[in-house]
Amino acid sequence: MKELVILGSTGSIGTQAIEVAEREGFRITALTAGSNSKLLEAQARKLKPLVVALADENAAADLKVRLRDTDIKVLSGTKGVSEAAAGSGDIVLNSIVGIAGLLPTLAAIDNGKTIALANKETLVTGGEIVNRRAKEKDVKILPVDSEHSAIFQSLQGAPKGSLKKILLTASGGPFYNKTKKELQNVTVNDALKHPNWSMGAKITIDSATLMNKGLEVIEAVHLFGLDASKIEVLVHRQSILHSAVELTDGAVIAQLGTPDMRLPIQYALTYPARSQNAFERLSLTDIGTLTFEKPDIDTFRCLPLCIEAIAKGGLYPTAVNGANEEAVRLFLEGKIKFLKIAELVETALATAENKNDFTVEDILYTDKMAREAVLNAIN
Ligand code: NDP
Repeated sequence: MKELVILGSTGSIGTQAIEVAEREGFRITALTAGSNSKLLEAQARKLKPLVVALADENAAADLKVRLRDTDIKVLSGTKGVSEAAAGSGDIVLNSIVGIAGLLPTLAAIDNGKTIALANKETLVTGGEIVNRRAKEKDVKILPVDSEHSAIFQSLQGAPKGSLKKILLTASGGPFYNKTKKELQNVTVNDALKHPNWSMGAKITIDSATLMNKGLEVIEAVHLFGLDASKIEVLVHRQSILHSAVELTDGAVIAQLGTPDMRLPIQYALTYPARSQNAFERLSLTDIGTLTFEKPDIDTFRCLPLCIEAIAKGGLYPTAVNGANEEAVRLFLEGKIKFLKIAELVETALATAENKNDFTVEDILYTDKMAREAVLNAIN
């Protein structure tokens, strides 16, 4: 029986990962979350992992009390989450939101675990270091993000070096076709209404600004080793063609399916096997039409800003990511307007201090500086 650790088990991906893992017969050895001690307790009682961890120290203390009648070890703080990632388990599925996912990914790699990666901020901020360490430890990084899973699936059987271009699809989010003027007064509720996917709040806002697609371009650069100039973003409203690759001979290969994250989660957990499931099957005749358009990069500035950040390289992607995380938090709290998010990301890109040869500490420092700059800019 394969052992699985789920980081971020209380979230949108984490809860779906538990469902898939139970059906696939995994033994779940560790579960972690940020602060949701109630749900983590319920998951722990049901799945009986060896270890649970909460990043929030107070919530972890509460969980320790709740689980005192069990043998489950309760760890706390960011160190505790990384310890859980490094403990018993063959595969670590990382579905933590934000840069908080970086250190646990590195801890898991350093301990030789296969990584099923949903946490895109891991590669956005630490792509070079993560890839280097994964190579040293001969560790596989399997994408969970639906677009990257589609690219990965489309590449199965393609000879090494034959990937020439990636066609990365985007739903366009809830504000597709809106003008800057129309976006001036949109609310948090408007931005949380994603047309096709039900996801955590942060990624849903990132989908509304197209920051999510920008982060995915950076993630794809690190996962597939192509330059950002070879990644074309296409708005595809139906979210059926999850992404495609163009190979040396001009053949374009894509993966299609209904919008359901359980399939990419399952593929990462069972790779290279394909197992049965009862997920809804795709009917192309019911859908009828698939459309593809260029994104509106004048209105949705976060996408070109991310592409500029990865073209400049170094610590720029970390700076734009940190500014975005803080800006999204402020937007969700009603403290800034929607269009301010892109403005703050743009300032971070213009003012970040770069180093081309950088360490994990440099990444964490750059993230901190970007967040502080956002707070200073709005106060
Ligand atoms: P959610 O917000 O639903 O869940 C996030 C998880 O991370 C929760 O378990 C949360 O715990 C935990 N968490 C939050 N902060 C911390 C912290 N500081 N340290 C440790 N754990 C923490 O997010 P999603 O599931 O939507 O997304 C997770 C990741 O997967 C993101 O990187 C996202 O971009 C990516 N992704 C998501 C997709 C989706 O369909 N949702 C699709 C593709 C990629 P708590 O509940 O206690 O707050």
